[in-house]
Order: sequence, then structure tokens, then C-alpha cells
Amino acid sequence: MSRAPVAIGEADLHTHSVVSDGTESPAELMRQAAAIGLPAVALTDHDSTSGWAEAAAAVPETGVALIPGMEFSTREGFTSVHVLGYLVDPLDEALLAETARIRESRLTRAEAIVRRIGRDYELSWDDVLAQTAEGATIGRPHIADALVARGHAPTRSAAFDGILHPRSGYSQPHYAPDPLTGVRLIRAAGGVPVLAHPGARGIEHVVPPARLAKLVDAGLFGLEIEHPENRPEAKPRLRELAAEFGLEITGSSDYHGSGKPNRLGECRTPADVVARLVAEGRGAQPVLPPA
Ligand code: AMP
Ligand code: FE
Ligand code: FE
Ligand code: ZN
Repeated sequence: MSRAPVAIGEADLHTHSVVSDGTESPAELMRQAAAIGLPAVALTDHDSTSGWAEAAAAVPETGVALIPGMEFSTREGFTSVHVLGYLVDPLDEALLAETARIRESRLTRAEAIVRRIGRDYELSWDDVLAQTAEGATIGRPHIADALVARGHAPTRSAAFDGILHPRSGYSQPHYAPDPLTGVRLIRAAGGVPVLAHPGARGIEHVVPPARLAKLVDAGLFGLEIEHPENRPEAKPRLRELAAEFGLEITGSSDYHGSGKPNRLGECRTPADVVARLVAEGRGAQPVLPPA
């Protein structure tokens, strides 16, 4: 049975702060949302809920509603697949254990990548730490920022297209469970799972119907179709799949502050979809501004 609907309005359902690989603090992110008149945002740092408290504390002053979430890392073979988990219980033991394992592997993997790059370029682990907030979920963006600081790349995006590109031979994947495990963990933690940027690798990499069916059986709520990185040719196919499987369609910017060209609020999820998503959340509550 669903709870009574909460009026939140439209929302940008995918953003990052310095708790992972964004460049703004959770409170700054909330202030940015207020500045552009966005009614609600979801904070979805990679494999972490550590930014929730600071973002929640900024709700009264900004008047922006917070939907707490995370972007959970999964992997299908060598392909990384992200599953957004909204309103999960941040203390759920299975989810905590798995996110800790992923973060640990992200760390050893980043160290290995930096060692490899360090053979060809002036770059140390301290350079990366200088770009990383205490306790943040580390990722290639922090290495990219260190490469920029050292003058080896003009921007974070250029570093991704160059030294950090898989074909350059320095990068390697980190541990992550498969997407089905991710969807199950999020639901078991009372959360609402949405497949992030499912068309970012183009139409030929869109999840096949048989695999999607398993995710839907495990409780997948929706597909993040309105995302700046989904390739245009993949979107009609994703809309067909959403209709076929009765999935909701979400829209989000995947804002990373100044670390990525994505603009906060550039893609949004309509209020009715937000209301249905919130009605399914069991592990945490949205944080609403005082009436
Ligand atoms: P990783 O988590 O180490 O696999 O690194 C991939 C992450 O880098 C994804 O979450 C991207 O959203 C993020 N990212 C941040 N800034 C950029 C950028 N400028 N170009 C590409 N990816 C980026
Ligand atoms: Fe990211
Ligand atoms: Fe992602
Ligand atoms: Zn993201």
C-alpha cells in the first residue's frame, strides 16, 4: 500500500557533490538549485550517503526539497552500469557492506591507475589526494583533476578523452556487483531503483529485453531516459522498453558542478513521476521545506 502522495514538484533526480566526484559541497548544490528555482533535487553521490545530512540541513534556508539517494556502481562484464537508489535506508547492513567493498576497490584501483600513469607522467598519489575531499568516494574524476593541476590535460573532460580513456591503457575497472544484485540490494534497503543513463553508450548497448525483465522482476522502478548523455538514437528504443515493461521515465542532469558540462536542472522529472517514486520509498524520507 502506498503512503498519501507528497507534493514535491518537479525534480532533478541525479546530482553529485564533493562526497563523490562533484565539485560543490552538498549545501552549495542546494543553493545552486534554489538559484535556478528548482523545486527539488536528489543528491546521488557514488556509493555513498555521506552528503545527505549536509544537504538536508540546507533545505529550510534554500526552500529546495531533498530526495536522498545514491548512484550505486554495478558492472556487467567490463561495462559499468549505474543504478540510482532513492530513499534507501542509509544504515541497511547489506547495502553498507557492499558500498564499503566498492569504495575500497575504487581506492585500490585508483592507486593502481596512478602508479601506471606515474611511469609516463609526473603524477603522484598525493596529487590525487589534493583533489579529493576527506572521505569522498574516489573515481577517475579525481585523477583527471590531478592531471589538470599538473598541466597534463587542459580540463577534466580532456583527461577522460585522453590519458584516462580505456584505450590509453592506464585505466582498469573496480569491483562492482552485477546490476540485478544492485536492484535487489536497493529494494531490500527500502529504496527505489532507477537505471541511470541507459542509453549513454548508444543503442547497441541498451540493456536487452530479457535482462531488463529480470531487473523489472527485482523491482526496477524506472529508466533515466532524459539524461544529457543518452544518445538521441537510443531514446526512442528506451521509451519503447519503458512502455513494454511499465517502467517510469525519469529526467536528470547528472550535475557534477564545474567538473562536467552538465547544467543543474537541464533535464528534470515531472512532478507526477516524482510523487510516485517518493510513494514507493521505504528506507528514508524526502526532506521538505517548512510549509
Ligand atoms: P569512475 O567512477 O572512476 O569509473 O569514473 C567515471 C565517472 O566520472 C562517472 O560517474 C562520470 O559521471 C564522471 N565524470 C565526472 N566528470 C566527467 C567528465 N568531465 N567526463 C567524463 N566523466 C566524468
Ligand atoms: Fe560521477
Ligand atoms: Fe553514472
Ligand atoms: Zn552520476
